[in-house]
Amino acid sequence: MAKLGYPFTLGVASGEPAPDGVILWTRLAPVPFDPDPARPGGMPARSVPVRWQVAEDPAFARIVRQGTASAAQAWAHSVHVRVDGLRPATDYHYRFSVGAPFGAETSPAGRTRTAPARDSTAPVRFAVASCQRYEHGHFTAHRHLAAELPDVVFHLGDSIYEYGRPAVPKPGRYVRPLEPPERECLSLHDYRNRHARYRTDADLRAAHAAAPWVVTWDDHEVDDNYAGVRPADGSPPAAFLRRRTAAYRAYYEHMPLRVRPVGEELRMYRWRPYGGVADFLVLDARQYRAGADMLGPAQERWLLDRLRSARARWKVLVQPLFFARRAFPGPLGPTFSTDAWDGFAEQRARVLAAAGERLVVLSGDVHNNWACDLDDDAGRPVGVEFVGTAITSAPSGAGGGPILAANPHIKFFDDHRGYLAGTAGPAGFEIAYRVVDFVDRPSGQLGTAARFGVREDRVVRLDV
Ligand code: FE
Ligand code: CA
Repeated sequence: MAKLGYPFTLGVASGEPAPDGVILWTRLAPVPFDPDPARPGGMPARSVPVRWQVAEDPAFARIVRQGTASAAQAWAHSVHVRVDGLRPATDYHYRFSVGAPFGAETSPAGRTRTAPARDSTAPVRFAVASCQRYEHGHFTAHRHLAAELPDVVFHLGDSIYEYGRPAVPKPGRYVRPLEPPERECLSLHDYRNRHARYRTDADLRAAHAAAPWVVTWDDHEVDDNYAGVRPADGSPPAAFLRRRTAAYRAYYEHMPLRVRPVGEELRMYRWRPYGGVADFLVLDARQYRAGADMLGPAQERWLLDRLRSARARWKVLVQPLFFARRAFPGPLGPTFSTDAWDGFAEQRARVLAAAGERLVVLSGDVHNNWACDLDDDAGRPVGVEFVGTAITSAPSGAGGGPILAANPHIKFFDDHRGYLAGTAGPAGFEIAYRVVDFVDRPSGQLGTAARFGVREDRVVRLDV
């Protein structure tokens, strides 16, 4: 067989940090968006052994774990290595290598970090990203995020967008091309090539290689504003479920997840503890939606139990959608987004009641920055919400002023693209709104639009 090209075109990643281990990810794809659905990534139809190494140092002089994983064509030659036996709250470096049929090739090295031990009170430094629409801009924010070397990165969804190239793109909103043939994703092959398109971006690869990621999804990993098995366009659920299953599979194949899809389900809601400092509760706001139920009964039960029994200083929801009430003033009275938590107000009230206090909600989806106070139905403070802007996705264009005026519990609006940089400690919780000045061309400069802390379950503005 002819020698294949360089296989690590999509980079490396790690995720799901535990006190004793992480997941390591890569996918072999010498031809990142091979047009032949029978050859995802331009790979032959057989399994390929992939060596992996974990070291304490970036030169790989002190290797502490190593082994061989099998990259199978059924999973588009992705590998998800479960590494254990590591020390808590420790930096590690990892890489992959392959032999035949590639000759000998080694991946770029990644840096990862385990979670702290159960009893740790050390602060955790994290970043929050969401909404990275490839064709809308350059992932410069990811390059800056990578440079901060956070302990962990939370991605709140819209990690890809399923859209094709519009017939007439809006000015400034199609600044770089999707993979050929630039059409909407419907099949497993389409979604695989779309994820691959994104990972060919060097800035996104740098962010994945810089820190372990804990990811959840929103709608665009499958289809705009879908709910459970129902697409927003009202087409039949059976056909949509096949599309969703393909999208979930491709998502798994490109993310450092601990669990794989089982039938039509990919279990995304989960608890990621960081010592005594933070219980990160990762939510799935799409897969189990039905009627006035965003989470589904099983996930809601799990969440309310976790909130009531949380022992860490901060209870942090890692989830895609605007959580606080947000009234849009209009001539006929206020309107609300029924796709976000305002469409699920009773479930939101149950979440707030179960949390009671010390709640921090991290959100994305709306493509600009916000900060909010959260009250229960009796008007008592329960916690705060930090809404992070998009990495690139264009905002709706509506300004923040009228919304701030109509919603006194919303304290901050900013209309840049960027990400959040946060610190959770035993005493405080702080968020810096990192912003880039432009995304329609490379090399946007980084700034900080604002910093907020939390005092007695209220946001307080801090000096930048
Ligand atoms: Fe989005
Ligand atoms: Ca969304």
